[in-house]
Parts: sequence; C-alpha cells; structure tokens
Amino acid sequence: MLNIVLFGPPGAGKGTQSQKLIEEYGLTHLSTGDLLRTQIKEGTELGTLAKKYIDAGELVPDEVVIGMIDRHLQANGQAKGFIFDGFPRTVPQAEALDELLIEHDTKIDGMIALEVSEEELTTRLLERGKTSGRTDDQDEELIRKRVQEYRKKTAPVAGYYNTQGKYTAISGIGQIDDIFQDICEVVKKLSR
Ligand code: AMP
Repeated sequence: MLNIVLFGPPGAGKGTQSQKLIEEYGLTHLSTGDLLRTQIKEGTELGTLAKKYIDAGELVPDEVVIGMIDRHLQANGQAKGFIFDGFPRTVPQAEALDELLIEHDTKIDGMIALEVSEEELTTRLLERGKTSGRTDDQDEELIRKRVQEYRKKTAPVAGYYNTQGKYTAISGIGQIDDIFQDICEVVKKLSR
C-alpha cells in the first residue's frame, strides 16, 4: 500500500493535485472536506453539526472527523492506498490516524506539503468561490479565519511528520502540471 498525506493551507491546491494523483497511481481519495459536504447535502445529523463549524471557519471536532475516516478506511479495505486530503488537520488527528492504520496493518509513507503564500491563498479562494458554490470561499473574513485556524492548529501537523522523517515540502506556486511533476518525483521515492 502507498498512503500519502497531501498537506497545505486552504487553497494550496490539495484537491486539484489529489485528483491527478488518484488518476496516475490508482489510489483512493479521502477528503474530509468533501465527505463533510456530502453529509451536509444529505442533511444527516453529522452534516448539521459540521455545518455550524464550517460556516464559522472553524475546524470540526476531532472525534467527528476521526470517526468518519475510520468508517471509510473500513469500507475501502481493498484500496491500493490512500491520498489523505485535508486530514489530519490537528496533531490528535495525526496520532489517531497512525493508530487506525496500524489496525489495518499499514502506515503513512509520507506527507507532501504544498507551500503557498497567504496573500495568494486569499486570491485563489475568492476566485474559486465564484464557481465552486462553496459559501466558505466567498467571504474574505471567513477565509482569514480558516487560514488562522490552519496556522494555529494544522501547521503543527507538519512537525509531527517531520519528526517521523516523512515530511517533504514543495512549492505550490506555478503551473498545475509542473507542481504535479514535483509531487510525482516525491511519490516515486516514497514507493521505492
Ligand atoms: P476543506 O474542503 O478541506 O477546505 O474543508 C472545509 C471545512 O471542513 C474546513 O474549513 C473545516 O471546517 C472542515 N474540515 C475538513 N476537514 C477537516 C478536518 N480534518 N478536521 C476538522 N475540520 C475539517
């Protein structure tokens, strides 16, 4: 199995690059943001709870997203590997993921972090908000809140994987295909 955490602030390009990675390597995409939005659309109890946090630009509680990832790991037992996109977003989530993967006799092979300046992120998110229908991409104040949450709670996750010798950062600025090539170089090394 090949399990990769694609990391970076909101608007770094994780979703775009995940799509390219699953096509190239046949991996299964697990995006907690997408899973939460599906729950909201379906009007489930979990969705109603998550919406309150998402609309406030805050992180959904750890136990909610960890439970969701647990169910999806169980349901995808035959997967060749996973791209984790937007998860883990806190150190407790990263610790829980390590535990869950041990239960499945596997582990995280590496984290690939996309680096993009905060100024560029806001521009990108506002642009995405014009077509994505995501209300959290349409309000500059909310975007700032999400980036703040990232800095405070999510950025330390990079240190968690760095300590394990699993962290690689690449520039998330430039042409999508050029960034993808840089990601592929890292993936090749990880899969050796
Ligand atoms: P995303 O699509 O990854 O940008 O996620 C959209 C929103 O969903 C975030 O701003 C959070 O409110 C929530 N969310 C997604 N993934 C997580 C996670 N791993 N932990 C907590 N909240 C999350």
